[in-house]
Amino acid sequence: MTIAQAPVALRRPIDGRHRKMFVDGAWVDARSGRIMETRNPATGAVIATVPRGDRQDVELAVAAARRAFDGPWSRYKPYERQVLLLRIADLFEKHWEEISRSDTTDMGMPIVRTLANRNRVIGMLRYYAGMATSLHGETIENSLPGEIVSFTRKEPVGVVGAIIPWNAPTAASIWKIGPALATGCTVVLKPSEEAPLTPLLIADIMNEAGVPPGVVNIVTGTGAEAGAALAEHMGVDKIVFTGSTATGQSIVRASAGNLKRVSLELGGKSPVIVCADADLDKAVPVAAMSVFANSGQICIAGSRLFVECSIHDEFIERLATYAKGLRIGDGIDPATEIGPLVSEKQLQRVASYLEAGAAEGATLVTGGQRLMEGALAAGNFVAPTVFADVSDDMRIAREEIFGPVISALPFDTLDEAVERANNTPYGLAAGVFTRNVATAHQLSRKIRAGSVWVNTYHAIDPAVPFGGYKMSGYGREGGAEHLDEYLNTKGVFIKID
Ligand code: NAD
Repeated sequence: MTIAQAPVALRRPIDGRHRKMFVDGAWVDARSGRIMETRNPATGAVIATVPRGDRQDVELAVAAARRAFDGPWSRYKPYERQVLLLRIADLFEKHWEEISRSDTTDMGMPIVRTLANRNRVIGMLRYYAGMATSLHGETIENSLPGEIVSFTRKEPVGVVGAIIPWNAPTAASIWKIGPALATGCTVVLKPSEEAPLTPLLIADIMNEAGVPPGVVNIVTGTGAEAGAALAEHMGVDKIVFTGSTATGQSIVRASAGNLKRVSLELGGKSPVIVCADADLDKAVPVAAMSVFANSGQICIAGSRLFVECSIHDEFIERLATYAKGLRIGDGIDPATEIGPLVSEKQLQRVASYLEAGAAEGATLVTGGQRLMEGALAAGNFVAPTVFADVSDDMRIAREEIFGPVISALPFDTLDEAVERANNTPYGLAAGVFTRNVATAHQLSRKIRAGSVWVNTYHAIDPAVPFGGYKMSGYGREGGAEHLDEYLNTKGVFIKID
């Protein structure tokens, strides 16, 4: 049995504001020497530069991942991978505040939220540590002539290319690296160009934990350069992608060269259905934060709010009051509830939807504009926004905005609500608020989405699968079936007579 390497000391290179990327166990710059900047979206200040990796760097990282997969890493027993994952989880505990601050300053999520994501990250690492020693095939009785024993083996799929967005860099990284390490795969991860810093910090933790060189590689760069090169690479066995549906489609096309396996966690336009019998005191804040948390930059944002007609006006009034009371500012302040949008580009995108809502005839109940008072002017802040009198065909009711915008849509009957809720190309998540247990069961069956939350929202657990229906993607993260995404099943026959 090989013993996992003893932990090495942190050796993260911090050269002024420049951070290197991590390939084959070493901190390196892009072969081209190019760099790119990353900004704090709350202040507009450049906080660091990182290498702008491209095809050549992806080539080196994939080669390192292949060498590790074929070499030392293949000799790690499940128990050793378990010990390594538990050690990584302990280091995440130790560095959790630093990790949380890194996400907050790089992409704006309020520190109260980044700190609270602990179970989604550390719980996930420990869950997969447990799973590492539970992988097994089956002995299967066959009907072949003679005596032949048949059984299956579960084998790691190989080199995994992981491409992640900016809206939850820590969780997105660990939801890819954790199952890869549990199953014995190696990884080349490309963070978003908008938020590359925490994945580099995570590389440092992997290093500190003693993950062998080449097992986890982080290549920073743009989607068009590094991302596309990874998706196309003939030496990559699987791509696991979280991001927009349009990019997911281009990744599927790019995967055709070697027919690599692909799993996709994509966008959404999730419905929240509030029935007249709901407990409104509880439903108002949960429905509001289903969108406003992380300023709407959440794949599962419940951005289509269906409210039963008899309570519609009261509910919208209370929702607007709640939205106006939210504390907006730099997420590094623990009192902040709503932070900035990640970039100027995202700000422009959200602004275009605010204009479209007004132009298409929706009624602006609250919000609807960029915030420019005092220090907010330097960042990308948008007021939490509620539109009423929205119809199903308006752009704000059909397209993913990825900003703090709720579109309220009244309904009369539950059948009508379900039909309209399902009338979308997406199927990521849904919320239902009711006190009636039969309604809860009926709606959770009829809604075509990968997650349905009743009288709650955002509940995510390492043991429960998460993923999309329809154009929200395929494959699941979380739960036992997550590991199947990283495994091949081999049938073996041995003649014994
Ligand atoms: P995006 O699709 O623009 O980018 C995601 C990643 O893909 C980035 O790393 C980017 O550099 C890379 N990329 C871009 N073009 C590429 C290409 N041609 N080939 C390979 N890689 C490429 O998404 P985003 O704006 O960073 O994130 C927002 C989107 O992510 C939203 O649509 C949101 O719903 C979705 N998302 C989904 C989930 C989920 O679990 N379903 C979670 C978070 C975010």
